[in-house]
Amino acid sequence: MLTELKREAYEANLALPRHGLSHLTFGNASALDRARGIFAIKPSGVDYARLRPRDLVLVDLEGEIVEGALRPSSDAPTHRRLLRAFPHVGGVVHTHSCHATAFAQAGRAIPLFGTTHADYFPGPIPVTRKMTAAEITGGAYEWETGNVLVERFGPGGLDPADFPAALVNRHAPFTWGRTVAQAVEVAVAVEYIAQLAVLSLQLAPGLKTLEPALLAKHFKRKHGPGAYYGQAPRPGR
Ligand SMILES: [Zn+2]
Repeated sequence: MLTELKREAYEANLALPRHGLSHLTFGNASALDRARGIFAIKPSGVDYARLRPRDLVLVDLEGEIVEGALRPSSDAPTHRRLLRAFPHVGGVVHTHSCHATAFAQAGRAIPLFGTTHADYFPGPIPVTRKMTAAEITGGAYEWETGNVLVERFGPGGLDPADFPAALVNRHAPFTWGRTVAQAVEVAVAVEYIAQLAVLSLQLAPGLKTLEPALLAKHFKRKHGPGAYYGQAPRPGR
């Protein structure tokens, strides 16, 4: 069942090593059918080279396996937590991409230094607090990982539509989008932005955050009611 959804998730998973974002078996992508409350996710520990569309595991938003011969990714509860918390989201991606993961390990948000960053995020890419020992050892580590991510958003916090990514402290980035393909694009952007930030700090260790006028110009031309970047949608679409 849900062959298209599995295909969508399959393509997204294969895109991760193709973009240099995943090594070994690190990383996973999920695609959600919101109406059915079912998502397709990579099976656990399967090499990308051996992955087939039918290997994708279907899981519902309660955590029950709906279909699949293999066990879902061990990160499935984190995906489920994010898909439940962010109603506009249709796909989640997790990578251990090098530079973004370096910021996560250092417990540092990715600072806003240039327009490449401002095209995607209206501020630093956030990092979560460290997880507590109870959260790590309590038997629901991956769900709790989702909880510390969700904690950074919501009322009075950041908007997950404006900030489609966050770093889990000591771990790595998670990204999301209306579709899983968008979440992959954000994962590529986050890694590139992180690499640029590292290089910028090497060249200018005391570098200050991007000027507000440049931030507003670049973020708003791609996002929100006044956006004009790219091609206008065709009538009827
Ligand atoms: Zn991970």
